[in-house]
Amino acid sequence: MLNILHYEIRKGDKWIKDVTVRDDAGHETHFPLYAICGEGEGPVLCITSGVHGTEYPGIGANLQLFHDLSPEELCGTIIGVPQCNFASFAAKVPFVNPIDGKNLNDTFPGDANGTMTERLCHMLVHEIAAKADYHIDMHSGDSIEWLYPYAFYHINEIDDETTRISRKLAEVYGLDYVSHTETAGAGATDAGNFYAAVCELGIPSIQPEIGGIGLIEAETKQLHYQGAKNVLMHLGMLCGTPEVNAKQRAIGKFYRLCAAQDGIFTCLVTPGEKVVKGQHLASLTDYHGTEVYHEFYAEEDAVILWVMSTLAACKGDNLMAIGVI
Ligand SMILES: [Zn+2]
Repeated sequence: MLNILHYEIRKGDKWIKDVTVRDDAGHETHFPLYAICGEGEGPVLCITSGVHGTEYPGIGANLQLFHDLSPEELCGTIIGVPQCNFASFAAKVPFVNPIDGKNLNDTFPGDANGTMTERLCHMLVHEIAAKADYHIDMHSGDSIEWLYPYAFYHINEIDDETTRISRKLAEVYGLDYVSHTETAGAGATDAGNFYAAVCELGIPSIQPEIGGIGLIEAETKQLHYQGAKNVLMHLGMLCGTPEVNAKQRAIGKFYRLCAAQDGIFTCLVTPGEKVVKGQHLASLTDYHGTEVYHEFYAEEDAVILWVMSTLAACKGDNLMAIGVI
């Protein structure tokens, strides 16, 4: 029997409930928690989404999985949180939790005695994901991020086996690109991210990214849905064979372009586009479009993974993510 928070999960169970979280300042929020406990033996998979409450395809797919799957067909247990950042979801606020203005995915593994976001992060990692053998944290581009699908996995520097299994899960998800990240070092950083915090506990975890710019389309929702089912089949929790993506490529280097000033961002490329070394990618100018602050060029042959969709740029904005194969 599995215990999560004050709930006991028994064979054949299928339920969804709201969990209340309070902070010392008197704020209160909640998030939905579900469990499907299979009739057959198997591992525990945790599926989370909505860490960013306006990233809709994963939220839609996660809820659909809960409604579609039955204990009769499942070996092992799925525990899930469709809207981790429910306050953001309900208020349609991108990036942060409106209660304390913090981004959950900068804050993991959190603090049990901290602000609302810190408490949420601590609970999601230590009370929920840590009860699982594997973890998927579904994301998309946020409301101003136009994105081409890829999956991240974290490099655990002292636990090669957790890294190896995480990489396999990222591959099995079936998207066109798979990329590693690390908490320290020169590569793409995942400091504060949910999947990195879980992976550091020795639990394989991935962050697939599909869709964005505030849309939920049938295709992007289906990609998350099928990706999770691929993982369930790979782990032997559902019958069937994962769909293999023969086009899948590993990203060798992932990096982001950043705005050094406020101004106008003129983007010349689209997500999924292959670019060649030296290609003009974007410009950052003043608000009149007169003075050019910076021209961005491709450092190497690469693929564009996401771009900021707005014309307005603020100092410190991530403008674009680039993957070098
Ligand atoms: Zn996100």
